[in-house]
Amino acid sequence: MGLFSLKETCSCCGKTTGFNKFKCKNGYLCPDCFKAARLKGLVINPFNTTGEELKIKLEKFNSKMDNFKETAKVGNYISFSDITNEVYVPNMKSEHRFIKYSDILDFELIEDGETIVTKGGLGRAVAGGVLFGGVGAIVGGVTGKKKSKHTVKSVKIKITTNDIKDPIVFITLLQKETKKDSLIYKNSAKTAQEILSRLKVVTSKDYSTKPEEVGQAKISVADELIKLKTLLDEGILTQEEFNKQKEKLLN
Ligand SMILES: [Zn+2]
Repeated sequence: MGLFSLKETCSCCGKTTGFNKFKCKNGYLCPDCFKAARLKGLVINPFNTTGEELKIKLEKFNSKMDNFKETAKVGNYISFSDITNEVYVPNMKSEHRFIKYSDILDFELIEDGETIVTKGGLGRAVAGGVLFGGVGAIVGGVTGKKKSKHTVKSVKIKITTNDIKDPIVFITLLQKETKKDSLIYKNSAKTAQEILSRLKVVTSKDYSTKPEEVGQAKISVADELIKLKTLLDEGILTQEEFNKQKEKLLN
């Protein structure tokens, strides 16, 4: 394959690259592999990665993604799987992360570098926000601390995990100067609250039971009710279906 050859073989997937090709460390990547590398944050610099390295990372990511059965998501910020008991956090700037619920040590809402609320500070009320849809009250409680400032430059959720290599995961909700009375800010606050509430719910459960011990009796009625109410709020269940399931659980 000469310098002016249009056709090269992708060093990652082996497909012919065609005219659109991207130089990598040991050859070329096809547009699909290049895009995957960038979008999935698999490698920091595709130009400095070999196709083989990327292939291994892609396969690992795809098999994790296949296993992950999403049961809830908040925008494109975070997905939850109550089946594999983990969250998936896409991240454009660094590697996408899969984090077991039980590996989440802490999480907090950070506005302009200042912690607004932590996991411990959320209390039962915020977790209840998921249950009863009390968005307004909690958004006020979460974001009303710094009334004196009229604009905000950044809103992030920081998740601390027990992964020693890379313990911190950020979810960026806002990253440009925004007026606090704007719709954009209010939406970020609402999104933040939903993420925090869900994190609170999933990290408040006890995952210490060994898989073989998880039987009907181990799943508490309250947990099941929370799940049901979430499904209702998301429009997955109708009120009628919800009532029926609720009655079943309580009897
Ligand atoms: Zn390829």
